[in-house]
Amino acid sequence: MRSWSEVGKHVLQEYLLGEAFVWRLPGGADCALTFDDGPNVEHTPRVLDLLHGHGVQATFFVIGEAAAAAPALLRRIVAEGHAVGSHTYSHRDIPTLTRQELWQELSSCRELIKDLSGVDTRLVRPPRGRITAAALVRMKRWGYRLIHWSKTYSDYLRDGREPLLRRIHSRGLEPCDIALFHDNNEYTVEALAQMLPEWSQRGRSFARLQ
Ligand SMILES: [Zn+2]
Repeated sequence: MRSWSEVGKHVLQEYLLGEAFVWRLPGGADCALTFDDGPNVEHTPRVLDLLHGHGVQATFFVIGEAAAAAPALLRRIVAEGHAVGSHTYSHRDIPTLTRQELWQELSSCRELIKDLSGVDTRLVRPPRGRITAAALVRMKRWGYRLIHWSKTYSDYLRDGREPLLRRIHSRGLEPCDIALFHDNNEYTVEALAQMLPEWSQRGRSFARLQ
């Protein structure tokens, strides 16, 4: 049975916002791995190595400030076939922003990604997933596609490899799931090193967000 927040997200995607809101992948077969808060010079290269080793493509929601500090890493993400989305320019909490500030956070991050990598992305992951109805409607009007998630394993807790692996196993990863990770900590990298072979053994296939 779905929680109320899952029911809300389902209604937004299926009945109200169409292409402008995604929390599960349509299509039925693939799952999607998403990584927020990079690029991170220490951990993103290790995530990229692991994904490359398993032939998996993912989506990276980069913070504008972090991408400006590591442009070569952003270009490597794109060169290796992954999708890139915006995680706002400075990771500000969207519900606290005025209309003008929201426009600025989104357009400056999108322009930076385009300048550095040549990719013009409409994909946005709001910091901490926090959003308001007004911001959602504005983003739809401005042509953005808000990507939420159906599975989080709380890797932001940074409480170690084993606790993270326990949460991944208990919450699972099923076809259509969009899974939230952060490519800025060692435990996520260590857990992925174990999970990528496991998922592939269980027949999971992965797609980038579009
Ligand atoms: Zn974030």
